[in-house]
Amino acid sequence: VGIVGRPNVGKSTLFNRLLGEKIAIVTPKQQTTRGRILGVLNLPNAQVLFLDSPGLHQPQHALGRYMLEVVKAVMSEADVLVAMIDARAGITADDERVFTRIRQSGRPALLVLNKADTVRKPKLLPLLERCARLNLFRELIPVSALLGDQVDVLLASILTLLPEGPRWYEEGQRTDQTLEQRISELIREQIMLATFEEVPGAVAVQIDTLESRERVTAIQATAMVERQGQKAILIGKGGSMMKKIGTEARAELERLLGRKVHLEIWVK
Ligand code: GDP
Ligand code: MG
Repeated sequence: VGIVGRPNVGKSTLFNRLLGEKIAIVTPKQQTTRGRILGVLNLPNAQVLFLDSPGLHQPQHALGRYMLEVVKAVMSEADVLVAMIDARAGITADDERVFTRIRQSGRPALLVLNKADTVRKPKLLPLLERCARLNLFRELIPVSALLGDQVDVLLASILTLLPEGPRWYEEGQRTDQTLEQRISELIREQIMLATFEEVPGAVAVQIDTLESRERVTAIQATAMVERQGQKAILIGKGGSMMKKIGTEARAELERLLGRKVHLEIWVK
């Protein structure tokens, strides 16, 4: 099941909600999700493989072009597409472009009108009518991925559209990301949350060492940015920004690993 849509509509929030676990990182900023992320949901009668994807947008640089390729791959790999719009924003030009690609893919698709918690019914109804006239989606489902409203209804609809097949992953496997990848993503999330303007989009995080000791897991990571000025912003006055990011990231990592974490982040 491929989850697709323009940036920031709430794809990763829904993905995590469906899986009942934080597998994809979430921020209010664009370019948060950069790659294809697999999440495996095991149910008594089904195994659903969800693919989270970067926001579909007109690429302006190499990272954007790469992200577009990722979305295309997700669309061709999925048996079912879950397209998402922001119910508060309605249908934007970027959404129209997403719809065009869905039409071209020929895949069965559902439309999720997310952030329903932010709009009143009278505003939602005309939007639903407009979406129905597109003649593209099997169902239109208003949800709040943030609050979890109607996500069970969505899941039930998804299940009716899935083809039969074997369970591809073992029960315990929830994603195909390595532990290093998940750690680096959680650190990048905190950097993106703490910084502004061009910094969030310019950051990459690399895990240098990951060492499980008796009482604590020790992690050394490098945060890389593109320019000297961004490095200064990321470090902050007297290291204050990095200290804040490190504290938040450590809390997230302790949640993921279920044990104490010692975290050092270098900026390059
Ligand atoms: P993505 O870029 O489509 O993956 O969007 P994210 O999942 O990263 O979410 C973008 C922003 O929208 C974040 O700040 C989320 O907290 C917020 N968001 C996601 N779903 C909802 C929702 O149902 N209601 C509200 N109010 N905000 C949401
Ligand atoms: Mg995302």
